[in-house]
Amino acid sequence: MKSTEPADISQLCIHTITTKPWSIEEAAKNFSASGVKGITVWRDAIERKNIKQTGRMLHEHDLTIVSLCRGGFFPGSNVIKRKSAIDDNRKAIDEAVELGTSMLVLVCGAEPSQSLEDSRKQIRDGIAEIIPHASAAGVRLAIEPLHPMYADTRSAINTITQANDLAEELNSPWVGVAVDVYHLWWDPFLENEIMRCGRNGNLMAFHICDWKVPTTDMLLDRGLMGEGCIPVNKIRSWVKNAGFNGFNEVEIFSTTYWKESQAVFLKKIIEAYKEHS
Ligand code: ZN
Repeated sequence: MKSTEPADISQLCIHTITTKPWSIEEAAKNFSASGVKGITVWRDAIERKNIKQTGRMLHEHDLTIVSLCRGGFFPGSNVIKRKSAIDDNRKAIDEAVELGTSMLVLVCGAEPSQSLEDSRKQIRDGIAEIIPHASAAGVRLAIEPLHPMYADTRSAINTITQANDLAEELNSPWVGVAVDVYHLWWDPFLENEIMRCGRNGNLMAFHICDWKVPTTDMLLDRGLMGEGCIPVNKIRSWVKNAGFNGFNEVEIFSTTYWKESQAVFLKKIIEAYKEHS
């Protein structure tokens, strides 16, 4: 932000995984005390917890629960695995309801023993199978395309074009797309595809962080906004132009930052957000 006014953080959301060393109670207390208004909850943060009570605790801290992360992982080399993925996704939808959020993010999965095309068909069929449950529960399903470096085991949906195609094929108000700058920043078609996503009413979520140069770990070395080479502001302007006005969700997996004081890290997140919003 170029103005001299302090930047607004009313649309800042932070994922629980970003401050992984904190329990969800500590995260809620500290986010709230810092003026953060949104939280996205990872399922590991609510394991063995009373989910309803946890949801109430978050609301008492004046936090909007933006989404539950994550369902998905639909592909499997046999029908038993695929069936168990469907069951787990139905459970995740139920957990989202208990928690008090209306969105479940889908990391779609991939099975390296079969072709990407087969995995994509299983992803499409898997999502189609859970739509009735999602619709009955009032939970939207956000397909998050992942960087192609994860096409072996994490997701056969690797571009926003593929996610848009899939959402349009499924053609349900309960299915859309989560745009994560870490996964998509390199794509020459990104601006056009973000516009297409918004035009079709499918733009459901926006995740931010940065790509450090060099990146020393393919999973756990994400940077703060401004620390790497992703044009976060430019992508944010595209998302805005596409009609998205929801939370900007800071999702950083970083063994470096997890070793620091999380209170200091939270301050850095807010500073970086203010500078790059
Ligand atoms: Zn993400």
